[in-house]
Amino acid sequence: MEAAAVGLTTITARDLEAHVNFLASDVTAGRGTGQPGLQVAAEYIATQFHRLGLEPIGTDNSYFQKFELLKTRLTDNIGLVMIEKGADGWSREKFQYNEDFFVSPHGLTGSTETQAPIVFAGYGITAPNYDWDDYADADVERKAVLIIDGQPEIPGSDYFTGEAETHVGDVMEKVITARENGASAIVIAFNPRSEMLFSDRMKRWERWLTQDAMALPSPISPAPVFFINKRTANRLLSVLGKSLMQIQEEVETGISGSTILPGTNLLFSVELEKETVVTQNVVGYLSGTDPELNKEGIIFSAHYDHLGVDKEGTIWYGADDNGTGTSAILEIADAITSNPKRAKRSFLFLAIAGEEKGLLGSNYYTNHPLIPLEQTITNLNIDMIGRNAADSIYIIGSNMISQELHDMNEAAAGYLNNLGLNYRYNTLDDPNRFYYRSDHYNFAKRGIPVIFYFAGVHEDYHQPTDTRDKINFDKMERVAKLVYLTGWGMANRGGNIGEQNLNSEFQPEIPFHIKY
Ligand SMILES: [Zn+2]
Repeated sequence: MEAAAVGLTTITARDLEAHVNFLASDVTAGRGTGQPGLQVAAEYIATQFHRLGLEPIGTDNSYFQKFELLKTRLTDNIGLVMIEKGADGWSREKFQYNEDFFVSPHGLTGSTETQAPIVFAGYGITAPNYDWDDYADADVERKAVLIIDGQPEIPGSDYFTGEAETHVGDVMEKVITARENGASAIVIAFNPRSEMLFSDRMKRWERWLTQDAMALPSPISPAPVFFINKRTANRLLSVLGKSLMQIQEEVETGISGSTILPGTNLLFSVELEKETVVTQNVVGYLSGTDPELNKEGIIFSAHYDHLGVDKEGTIWYGADDNGTGTSAILEIADAITSNPKRAKRSFLFLAIAGEEKGLLGSNYYTNHPLIPLEQTITNLNIDMIGRNAADSIYIIGSNMISQELHDMNEAAAGYLNNLGLNYRYNTLDDPNRFYYRSDHYNFAKRGIPVIFYFAGVHEDYHQPTDTRDKINFDKMERVAKLVYLTGWGMANRGGNIGEQNLNSEFQPEIPFHIKY
């Protein structure tokens, strides 16, 4: 660790505080992707990279890796119509938008108008570990799939006891599963057991549903997601002669499973307004000294975007989320460039945009990598490290792909001896699904060993009150030092560590969690 000792002293709470103070100020205005405040933050980060002598390897040899995003907004032209074959031909029943149903704009890249048969598929859960598969007998390819929100409740069951949530009841997981099965629309029936009213849920999701959504451009728009109330669900299921509550019970007791709704089609249309915006990740590179090993790289990443400023002018500062992580990679860059010796392997410092819009910047980066992915041996991702317990940090993902990375991080923590490593969320089964919820996930999906450094959520999480006065800069210093030492250690290991340690078996295909 001797060569790393000089750098270690340059990481200070005071420097971190200075960075956070700027990044979470009125000038950067919440750093919303697509908003001017994010550009200010990008210039600040690029200036620091320049000052430290990092190489600009982005677009046109700049510090910016530019990319296009589609900014989308739902129009009022949203339709959901049941078409039913009766004795005297087809009849239509139109449901009321924003009353009988609402729709999510997230992830959509184009307008849709389609008619499709409807398949009821229970809870829409495929969970081999839980011995449950609603798609076992369901063909939903090019069909509208109707599923119940939440998860089964089965007294005496090993998993679905009704007492604790599991990750398989998560909306996002179900949407992904339905899309993977080829559904053309996903219709989620409000769970009749919910203690909340449908209208209250709509209200609670209002901000998330009405804000501008963003997506990476793609020629095919994914299946839209409709949330329907109980009455609408009952109307659709009436062709089976059953109510939603009846069929829910039948699914849970195994009496009935997935089934097509006979003689019924769903006509659905979603019209989007679209606008292309250009944004950027901020990238700074430092080459290693070993003529062979310097082809391999370690990526320090942190998203620098947050929720921006809303229509009322309220700034969502995002001091912890993720002013802290962004500041930490600036300090780590400072430390690494302060060392008298360079490392064997190369480093990439990556400040990521569009995380809050669905891990978009890391998705773009991993499709357009600046160090080939096969030579990217580690991604250390920092997202929210300034709050909660002063002397411990959650470590997520460290041993999932490479034991060597896990051991290195433990060794670094042992060397520092002032920060506890908490593995509570280091599991794929946690209902919070943190492993899927920040940018490291796009690297992990491609088999790159990752660690997600995270101090946990708090009452100011995704609120305008996530401000700089609440940050524990001493804690940040300890975490930044840990990340620095782990990265430095990985950069100086002998041999080809990339090849030996990848566990190719591990390829979970479940992306981010939408933050409601
Ligand atoms: Zn974050």
